[in-house]
Amino acid sequence: MTKQTLSFQAEVAQLLHLVTHSLYSNKEIFLRELISNASDACDKLRFEAINDGGLYENDSELKVKVTFDKDAKTLTITDNGIGMSTQEAIDHLGTIAKSGTKDFVSKLSGDQKADSQLIGQFGVGFYSGFIVADKISVESRRAGMKAEEGVRWISGGAGDFEVENITRTERGTSVILHLRDDAMDYASAWKVKGIINKYSDHISLPILMEKEEWKDGELINPGDEQGGRQPGGMVKTGEWETVNKANAIWARAKKDITDDEYTEFYKQISHDFEAPLAYTHNRVEGSTEYTQLLYIPGKAPYDLYNREKSAGVKLYVKRVFIMDDAEALLPTYLRFVKGVVDSSDLPLNVSRELLQESRDVKAIREGCTKRVLGMLEDLAKNDKLPEATTSAEGVTDVVTEEEKTEAAANAGKFTKFYNEFGAVLKEGLGEDYANKDRLAKLLRFATSTTDVVSVSFADYKARMKEGQEAIYYITADNAAAAKNSPQLEVFKKKGIEVLLMTDRVDEWALNYLQDFDGTPLQSVAKGAVDLGKLQDETEKKAAEEAAEAFKPLLAKLKEALKDKAEDVRVTTRLVDSPACLVVQDHGMSTQLARMLKQAGQAAPEVKPVLEVNFEHPLVKKLDGSVHFNDLAHILFDQALLAEGGLPADPAAYVKRVNALLV
Ligand code: ADP
Repeated sequence: MTKQTLSFQAEVAQLLHLVTHSLYSNKEIFLRELISNASDACDKLRFEAINDGGLYENDSELKVKVTFDKDAKTLTITDNGIGMSTQEAIDHLGTIAKSGTKDFVSKLSGDQKADSQLIGQFGVGFYSGFIVADKISVESRRAGMKAEEGVRWISGGAGDFEVENITRTERGTSVILHLRDDAMDYASAWKVKGIINKYSDHISLPILMEKEEWKDGELINPGDEQGGRQPGGMVKTGEWETVNKANAIWARAKKDITDDEYTEFYKQISHDFEAPLAYTHNRVEGSTEYTQLLYIPGKAPYDLYNREKSAGVKLYVKRVFIMDDAEALLPTYLRFVKGVVDSSDLPLNVSRELLQESRDVKAIREGCTKRVLGMLEDLAKNDKLPEATTSAEGVTDVVTEEEKTEAAANAGKFTKFYNEFGAVLKEGLGEDYANKDRLAKLLRFATSTTDVVSVSFADYKARMKEGQEAIYYITADNAAAAKNSPQLEVFKKKGIEVLLMTDRVDEWALNYLQDFDGTPLQSVAKGAVDLGKLQDETEKKAAEEAAEAFKPLLAKLKEALKDKAEDVRVTTRLVDSPACLVVQDHGMSTQLARMLKQAGQAAPEVKPVLEVNFEHPLVKKLDGSVHFNDLAHILFDQALLAEGGLPADPAAYVKRVNALLV
């Protein structure tokens, strides 16, 4: 094959532009990304070699070498991993295969600051090389292919790249970065080693660099390794040394790992710039043995609500990387968790299908779920700063400075978590029956009296009025609609707090939660209002009498609205509004039906019940009105509008109202 010039896919060109323009403040991550690719390539080789040992070509010591040449202005990362064929180089380095990535690029706004945040979460991989290089050349040969089947790929990171066929005896890949002038400090052993220690210590392969010595070196400033020696400079010795710890972090003892190391590992696997909110690291022994290192991020990814989105846990078997995004290791509602599970029991050639059925995996999944919920419970417990407690004897609790600092560091983390991931957690009510009660305790809501999403079911219960027998809630499209809903009127009047449920998932999730700690949950928009003991006897009686007296009117309304309303009845739940819509006790709410329709899904036709406030002047006026039919429809359509819905025939509604106005 002769030299070919090909164009980058449009999305790649866009991504490249962004990489070079917005990641300036965080240049050094390029090395982490390229070493991580080299390490992945070695993992892939090891994995393919399980079935075909010949791929090792008698060289099974997998490693990464980092070299630089000050005169040529290059920094090179070489691995003896799986390598790439020509077609693979074209496909993998010229296009974005993963649909998620395309999606991501289309979300970029062009605002550099916002985009660099996004890109940080996402990880730019290979293209990050262009942060420091104005040209990258990649030379590679795939394991098992002939030396003449090597490939050279070259690009300046603008619109196109070149590929040509080369002869390359060594298996694997060299990524040669031609450093920009302002990035020349990366052509230094000291600088590169520092970055490797920071980001890549845990890479389980050795990362090698050539040893250097001072030429005619005499120490002028002992301890000052960078600048303290005389001219002559450093020269390479031809000996190689391993510059990382080459030890998988999760395989090390907890006591030997610092917080910083845990955080760096998290950033590496998550591509997040920020530290995680919490992590847990355990060796689990017993009938199934595995190590788990799991993190809770502080920020939701842009595609959190995509339930098909890949999970964030990597699976290893006895230190050998098996797969990314092993979704079988955690339930879907915990898809935001990042980390590693290393099993001692699974076979190395385990497939995704096999994972679904394995009993070991089931045990791992249960164990991981418990740990994650445990972390969340701890965050919730420490969310508020403790108040100083004074005992009965008047002794104030002594809090050490250390305890104070720790409390301050942990405060607010759960709130942060909940704002980002609370809605996803709710999916667990339906998905994870066994942990339903633990999950319910973690949920937080705004209420009719508290604007901030902070009230737990337990908080609510503790504030229930005497005689109140249910936890009341309302579902709506947004907080304003929930708070001003006519259905809340009687609750406001009686000073009963109502939980406001405004996440899309609420309605669905609450189907799975009938009660909390023995107290039933009751939607204020379902069934007749039964305030139980809270109901006033006289009010009750007045309502019964009204129902009797209004019977003929109700019958007329029912007839007029027979296509729209399941039933028409009088209610005590309204104070200021003339009417509202409710659904039968176990029926689907109108909001949920609306949402399903919007999502293009089949929704049963819900015919709500129209409830009228017999004290309201408009209702009183109905009887005997010449406009009875129009008023009846207006009453119904307004009730629909009040809860955020739209009349089935908006034009007819407008016409009717206008006719009356005129
Ligand atoms: P990601 O690593 O997230 O898939 P990258 O942009 O970093 O994305 O790399 C794109 C693809 O290029 C990789 O998935 C891999 O197939 C290939 N690749 C990159 N670096 C190497 C390497 N050192 N050896 C073999 N293949 C590589």
